[in-house]
Amino acid sequence: MTITATLINLYHVCHRELWLHANQIQMEQTSEVVADGKFIGDTTYEQRPEKYTQVELPGVKIDFYDAKNGVVHETKRSDKMEQAHVAQVKYYLYVLGQHGIAANYGILEYPKQRHTERVDLTDEDRRAIEVWKMEIEEIVGREVCPPVINKPFCKKCSYYDFCYVGE
Ligand code: SF4
Repeated sequence: MTITATLINLYHVCHRELWLHANQIQMEQTSEVVADGKFIGDTTYEQRPEKYTQVELPGVKIDFYDAKNGVVHETKRSDKMEQAHVAQVKYYLYVLGQHGIAANYGILEYPKQRHTERVDLTDEDRRAIEVWKMEIEEIVGREVCPPVINKPFCKKCSYYDFCYVGE
C-alpha cells in the first residue's frame, strides 16, 4: 500500500480513525484533520506566491515547496494537533529525500495563532518513519478496527457518531 501523508498524520491522531479512513469507511463530513488540508488547499491555492511550487510524489502532495532554498511550508488552521502536523512535515521531507529532491527543513505555519515551527528531519526521524510505516500497514490490515480513544477532540471527528453510537 502507498503510505500517504494523511495516513502518517492520522497515525499520530487516532489509530481507529487511521483504520476507518484507510479502509475507506467514509462519513458525510470530513474530519478536522483532513479538512485542515482542504481548507488550506481551497483558500490559498490561488494565492500561492511564485517562489513556491507544488510537488506531487507517491503518497504526498506538497502545495508550498520553496525549491530555491529546499524548504517545505505547510499551513494549518489550528495547532491543537501539532505533533501530527510535525510528523506529516517530517514525512514530506523524508519522501522528497527518497526521490533525490533537496529538502533542508520544513516550516509549519499557524497564521491564526501567529505561530511558526521549524521542522527538521534527523536520522533518528528517518528510522522512526520506517517504524511508523510498518505499524500503519499492520493497523490498516487488521480485521477489526482499533478501539475508541475517548479524547476531547473525538467530538470534532467525523466518525464521532459512528464511534460513540448510543451514548
Ligand atoms: S471519534 Fe475519536 S475514537 Fe473515533 S475515530 Fe475519531 S478520534 Fe478516533
